[in-house]
Amino acid sequence: MRRDVDRLAGDAFDLLVVGGGIYGSWIANDAALRGLRVALVERGDWGSGTSQASSKLIHGGLRYLEYLKFGLVRRALAERRRLVKLAPHRVYPLRFVIPLYQGDRVGRLRMEAGLWLYDRLAGGGQPVAPHAAFGRPETLERYGFLTADGLKCGFSYGDCGTDDARFCLEVVAGAMEAGAACVNHVEALALTQDGEGRVTGAELRDREGGGTFHLRARITINAAGPWGPRLKGMPDSSAHICRLVKGVHLVLPPLPTGDAFLLTARRDGRVFFVIPWYGNTLLGTTDDDYQGDPDRVAVEAADVEYLLTEANRALGGARWTVDDVRGAFAGVRTLRDGGEHSATDVTREWSLEEPAPGLLFPVGGKFTSSRAEAGITVDRALALLGRPAGPCPTKRRPFAWRPSGVFEDWLRHAFTVGGELGLDAETARFCALRHGQRVERVHGILAHRPDLARRVANTAPFCRAEVVHAARSEMARTLDDILRRRVPAAILARLDARALEDAAQLAGAELGWSAERRAREVAEVGARYGAGDRA
Ligand SMILES: Cc1cc2nc3c(=O)[nH]c(=O)nc-3n(C[C@H](O)[C@H](O)[C@H](O)COP(=O)(O)OP(=O)(O)OC[C@H]3O[C@@H](n4cnc5c(N)ncnc54)[C@H](O)[C@@H]3O)c2cc1C
Repeated sequence: MRRDVDRLAGDAFDLLVVGGGIYGSWIANDAALRGLRVALVERGDWGSGTSQASSKLIHGGLRYLEYLKFGLVRRALAERRRLVKLAPHRVYPLRFVIPLYQGDRVGRLRMEAGLWLYDRLAGGGQPVAPHAAFGRPETLERYGFLTADGLKCGFSYGDCGTDDARFCLEVVAGAMEAGAACVNHVEALALTQDGEGRVTGAELRDREGGGTFHLRARITINAAGPWGPRLKGMPDSSAHICRLVKGVHLVLPPLPTGDAFLLTARRDGRVFFVIPWYGNTLLGTTDDDYQGDPDRVAVEAADVEYLLTEANRALGGARWTVDDVRGAFAGVRTLRDGGEHSATDVTREWSLEEPAPGLLFPVGGKFTSSRAEAGITVDRALALLGRPAGPCPTKRRPFAWRPSGVFEDWLRHAFTVGGELGLDAETARFCALRHGQRVERVHGILAHRPDLARRVANTAPFCRAEVVHAARSEMARTLDDILRRRVPAAILARLDARALEDAAQLAGAELGWSAERRAREVAEVGARYGAGDRA
């Protein structure tokens, strides 16, 4: 994945996609596969907006059943099945447990009915087991850290997990393979229009080289997520249809189980998750209206207090305190505003707007359903270009780094090789899953430099060779690109100055950083993920 800003100059493009979150990345991938000349620009790094701050679930969304959103849930569950097949290294089954307590908003019968319906809507061939119910003694026996007081019974059901930022990166890699010009750290400053008000592309700025230039495109797609309505040249009306909602996750030590939990907060009856992730635990999310600048979204003390208090109510044995928090992150989702009272009630349905001729603007949606909705967006772009749509190519196409052959055999082999090259077992396994068939490149680096098998940080199962690989072959340009998204160590561990300087040294050797640039990168990442703001 080479960053080549020159590819954006010269010929006019059929499609300019602004924003390299999961929606923009899938749109570029799909459109390039359908033969369009596509440019994808991202002002930061791939997935560095909302798409790095999700709950990392590929799921139907059990709670949407309460809003009778059966179509939404069914479509997302079909997508869950599809994505596990197309990317078994990237999307994996997770067992969720629901401990039911006296006073919970949803009682036993309603929960049982909901889970039954969830299984039915999923249909056959799903990667997860159907739901099950178990009594109080069995629940406590299996999960000894649950609060016994008030526990009535337990349920389990299946959904899937992923690493959102790496998922996004791999979709960009697929877009590039299909011929799209994809460049990160390039910002769209303003949409451009002809005399009749038709959008003709955008004024772009290379945030690395500093130059500005105009990119002409027959269709422009504003996939800038929560930043979308703020893009200069967008009609004012676009802001009124968007509602921004902030969500926070905390990273905590692992629980003695590989299962995830769905819990209900006493304070407001909302559901939230406790999810195992890279040997740690993700706890989230909050869900609050957000009126501020999406660039300034941050984790507040009140978010931390809410999540810890509500989690400790059910996970009494964990006794998590602020001191246990290893990392935290906040994100802003864009929802289609329908005037609902609370943020939690707003639909997660997606819509495609056409605010001006030559301009498409996707609004709302979910990580899980983004591939399918990108397909609808490209269908519309093709119609506007007067071309036949044809079948959606991403529907059956394996991900760019999907290993070939029998997946389990490949994983066993990659794991064994990683171990032989000095990786600890957990790092070797995640390394294979995170890189797919390209793990061979990381292994190649390790074969020459066994000293790079060491972890980046104790509680983050990523090796130093992955830092080199990120800078060399994954279009990482900053230390934040590397430590937040290529290897999300910055949110899984409290990185000290030594770990940061070591990573900067490794990355800098690949990217030609001066001592001054290294110091600046270290200072920036240190400030961003130090105590306090960890957005
Ligand atoms: C807390 C939380 C939890 C969630 N959990 C889940 C979940 O578990 N499962 C699920 O399916 N969905 C989940 N979602 C929803 C999902 O994360 C979003 O639907 C999805 O990530 C939105 O992607 P996007 O591409 O639209 O936006 P973004 O990821 O925000 O992408 C927009 C991109 O545009 C870039 N950009 C902005 N302005 C410009 C410009 N001028 N020029 C160039 N680039 C620009 C930004 O840097 C950004 O990278 C969650 C959302 C939140 C907030």
